[in-house]
Amino acid sequence: MNSSLQGQTAIVTGASSGIGAGIAKAFAAAGASVVVNYHANAASAEQIVADIAAQGGNAIAVGADTGNEAQVEQLFDAALAAFGGVDVVVANAGIQRDAAFDQMSLADWQAVINTNLTGQFLIARAAVRQFKAQGQRPVSKALGKIICVSSVHDVIPWAGHVNYAASKGGVMMLMKSLAQEVAPLRIRVNGISPGAIRTPINKDAWSTPEALEKLLELIPYGRIGEVEDIGKAAVWLASDDSDYVVGTSLVVDGGVLLYPE
Ligand code: NAD
Repeated sequence: MNSSLQGQTAIVTGASSGIGAGIAKAFAAAGASVVVNYHANAASAEQIVADIAAQGGNAIAVGADTGNEAQVEQLFDAALAAFGGVDVVVANAGIQRDAAFDQMSLADWQAVINTNLTGQFLIARAAVRQFKAQGQRPVSKALGKIICVSSVHDVIPWAGHVNYAASKGGVMMLMKSLAQEVAPLRIRVNGISPGAIRTPINKDAWSTPEALEKLLELIPYGRIGEVEDIGKAAVWLASDDSDYVVGTSLVVDGGVLLYPE
């Protein structure tokens, strides 16, 4: 068993489904106590908590809209009340509201920017404040670790998804600039840029054989990614094994970025 996060506490946002759920389970399997944040789907979050408990892990579900300042504070308060400190924070919650650019409503633009970018700002800011307030803990070399889940669309343009690509480009520079600012405090900020991972957000791209065949043409490694692929990367970035990794976005994409757009 990987015990690289033994004794640590992690908050994972948007963890009632998809990549967040995969990261939460991988963290718990590596020994962390996990706060499974959800927005709307409490039942799914409780199921993830039950799955973790069935494997001998430790987790709680906490509802919070990551784009809402007061609710983000409540999320951290709940983590502290349950586990007494926070060592790892994964800003993962994200949405898509796709539209041709001239049809895109201001509401769809703002919803995506608020969840994907402002939400990551609020979560990362709360994490930095918490790490500074609690000081060094014995369970990790760093004062704290933040992982921002971005996308290969933080560098690959995406026609029809301008709001999403703009938000992820923003996440990349948020992550790098913050990493530079807080590295002297020994807070490590890194990112993960997933390619196509089998989750609800992109169901249309893999749920029929025709769609999947088209998708696989874009992936040199010849398979769609699974949430476990991202979970393993996140465990490594959260653990002391990556202690000298600062301000990097780990691309986990089966080689998608190797093809020019
Ligand atoms: P998903 O839809 O299963 O997960 C997104 C989660 O975020 C959901 O659980 C949702 O409830 C939650 N969420 C949405 N708004 C929220 C809010 N305001 N507050 C709290 N939680 C909120 O899809 P996923 O693929 O697991 O996406 C996770 C992250 O990975 C997203 O940031 C997404 O952009 C990114 N990503 C996914 C892929 C992919 O191929 N699946 C590729 C690149 C990046």
